[in-house]
Amino acid sequence: MSDTALEPVRLVDYRVPAFLIDTVHLDIGLDRTQTRIVATLAIRRNPASGERGPLKLDGDSLLFVEAWLDGVPLQTRDYVALPQAFTLHHTPEGSFTLTIETRLDPSANTQLMGLYRSNSAYCTQCEAEGFRRITYFLDRPDVLSVYTTRIEASFQEAPALLANGNKIEEGVLNHGRHFAVWHDPFPKPSYLFAMVAGDLAVVRDSFVTASGRHVRLEIYVEHGKESRCTYAMDALKRSMSWDEQVFGREYDLDIFMIVAVSDFNMGAMENKGLNVFNDKYVLALPETATDQDYANIEAIIAHEYFHNWTGNRITCRDWFQLCLKEGLTVFRDQEFSADQRSRPVKRISDVKTLRSQQFSEDGGPLAHPVRPEIYNEINNFYTATVYEKGAEVVRMLKALIGDEAFGRGMDLYFERHDGEAVTIEDFIACFADVSGRDLSQFMLWYRQSGTPEIRAEGVWDESGRTYALTLSQILPPTPGQPHKQPMLFPIRLGLVGTKGDLRVRLDGEPFEGLVALTEPTQSFLFSEVGEKPVPSLLRSFSAPVKLAVDLDEEALLTLLRADSDPFNRWQAAQSYALKLLLRLVKDPTTPIDPRFVEAISGILERGGDDPAFAALSLALPSEADIAREIGSDVDPQAILGARAKLRHTLGSYLGSELLRTIETMSVDGPYSPQARDAGRRSLRNVALELACANGSKAALAVAQAQFENANNMTDEMAALNTLALSGTDAGEQALLGFRERYGSDPLVIDKWMSVQAMLPHETTLARVKELMRDSAFSLHNPNRVRALIGAFSANNQTQFNRPDGEGYSFIADIILSIDPKNPQLAARLLVAFKTWRSLEAGRRALAAAALRDIAARPGLSRDVADIVQRSLA
Ligand SMILES: [Zn+2]
Repeated sequence: MSDTALEPVRLVDYRVPAFLIDTVHLDIGLDRTQTRIVATLAIRRNPASGERGPLKLDGDSLLFVEAWLDGVPLQTRDYVALPQAFTLHHTPEGSFTLTIETRLDPSANTQLMGLYRSNSAYCTQCEAEGFRRITYFLDRPDVLSVYTTRIEASFQEAPALLANGNKIEEGVLNHGRHFAVWHDPFPKPSYLFAMVAGDLAVVRDSFVTASGRHVRLEIYVEHGKESRCTYAMDALKRSMSWDEQVFGREYDLDIFMIVAVSDFNMGAMENKGLNVFNDKYVLALPETATDQDYANIEAIIAHEYFHNWTGNRITCRDWFQLCLKEGLTVFRDQEFSADQRSRPVKRISDVKTLRSQQFSEDGGPLAHPVRPEIYNEINNFYTATVYEKGAEVVRMLKALIGDEAFGRGMDLYFERHDGEAVTIEDFIACFADVSGRDLSQFMLWYRQSGTPEIRAEGVWDESGRTYALTLSQILPPTPGQPHKQPMLFPIRLGLVGTKGDLRVRLDGEPFEGLVALTEPTQSFLFSEVGEKPVPSLLRSFSAPVKLAVDLDEEALLTLLRADSDPFNRWQAAQSYALKLLLRLVKDPTTPIDPRFVEAISGILERGGDDPAFAALSLALPSEADIAREIGSDVDPQAILGARAKLRHTLGSYLGSELLRTIETMSVDGPYSPQARDAGRRSLRNVALELACANGSKAALAVAQAQFENANNMTDEMAALNTLALSGTDAGEQALLGFRERYGSDPLVIDKWMSVQAMLPHETTLARVKELMRDSAFSLHNPNRVRALIGAFSANNQTQFNRPDGEGYSFIADIILSIDPKNPQLAARLLVAFKTWRSLEAGRRALAAAALRDIAARPGLSRDVADIVQRSLA
């Protein structure tokens, strides 16, 4: 901490650990300010390491009390105990036990790393390097140990005492204290250690695995919130059976626990047998959670559960391999959600997230490979690139070798590496072995950063009935990578005629829909092409690239109408809208192409066939999407204006059709979070927002009625958002009414804060400052900060990027005030500046000045120093 001279860690410097720790016995005596930790470690030299030096354990801000070697107290000359390390000068030959006692103050731990207090509970967060804030340890993922954890606490304060594994003992002690002992038979790295203690309510259920084992399921929440766990429990059980059916993976302990806490830096954490969740991703009732919340809960419950095999049973050798567990597990949770819901709708949503989060990261100063080779602070690499692009790489691998070989490769991975800490090379080798393919070029996806661009050109020869498609790859330079090698791309494609996909041949064989691009430029000659085709490229978004293909409006309309690939039908609508919007940004007087309005009308008309899909097709590209397409000298105000004009036009021309859609898409009966009803609500609410875009009184009255009468949070929030966007008195009244209605519910008040923080109005910054004084807000709680400050900086393009620079200096001040208490949270906020270099000159200069102000502050955390230095580099 506090030292801004960063010492980078490099992948090439990896060495196997000099020592191994076979077992860990932790004895934890909980106390709010004076927690006592006694760790007994069974240690031996690692036969795979040639190093002969002293034993050096990691620490972070630790208070040392005493140490014993094989039960004998150590003398001060035998060791050096500093807050950040413990060194034992001479170690015995063979195995030995080292016992170390430390003291902690959980109440003072505002970083939320290590052991801390959240509301009334003690809890831990150890990934990536939090265990060293609990006790001295070889705190690295390739040191796997069997843990036994004894927790002792006041019964009144903490009736529930939880840790990893199975409970093997519990009992009552003197002075109102009690204890529990947990044993986890599966060796694990220290980052997967967890312990929770507190006065919590529990919801119980059970699951029988495919092989007939009974597993107890428990979700712990604050008292009074039990009824909000039903969906999370249901999602957990569905995840457990899905992983058995699709990946052949069974759960392995007698009990699986989830604890929801309200102070958490991340979404959730996959600690073995004891997942700790941000309560936002557990708690849901129709009256408090939106369809999106339900979908997030389902996905994150699944994600953390799936880590039991991809992350826990097989873990990462070092933190450079983070994508080994994250990219693969995101891929698995995306597949799960696709199977539970609509696959095309899920794919489109995932690609939207990828483009908005990852492409912008990959195109700016924070770009890094899926597997970075150097880092200053690992906490800053829990990024969209590692997670989302990491998942895309796994998806491409599956496309290239085929479903069947991919399945065998996964089986081999589980069989070959169970119980090990491995690398990306180990993972890829499994697929190379089962498929017999050389995947060395594919490995570049892990090494080269930046979003590749694929350019496509096609020529139809009418007399020869052929179509020559030429694909080229352009790999833009990124920080530290000026030159790149050609990569391997799976490109799914089809040729579309007026009546749908054409049946064509490639190299004389019936074309199956996939080509592999391996060279800088490659041509593919299709035969039996009887009519002039429109190429439908990158179907299902088969590679995470920018596609440059010159399709005119007629071609886009053909795809929109006739493409068999739903992703590309959606993409055609987006590309068409983007063309219009880019023209409007340049010249706001550009008339709106009536064919586009007609196309949107057609989507509305067919909306009932797949409402969720129609809703996605109606949603115009976001301001960030447009900014990314423009690339440089971006003026956010011009983008907002263009978007507003197009929405206004659609609202005016399609007013009555939109109102009809709102009517027909209403959902009767009690609320269900299932995909069918959620899809109808999403189409209804997209239509509502468009209908109100021209200020239509009739449409605003519908929004008002929906706000007052909704029986679920999805419809209520959508109406609130639409009314607030209108900038009318009705909007202000609705905001006031909402605050009164949900005043005591932090997760709902978070939504209310976000809606206001994202309003593209001149007054929003003043409003955000005002909301910081609301009693519901706290700079100490990550969820509150993200809901208000994060929503403003990351999602309000025009007001964060105000031409007077006030948005930047406001966020810079907040970052500096949070940094001393919670560096991870401060660093995440700072990422809002990731696209500053693409702004027009005036804003660019102001953003740079704000970044330089942050950089100049003495005593920055390593987290913030790292991001600010890379942003300015
Ligand atoms: Zn994860």
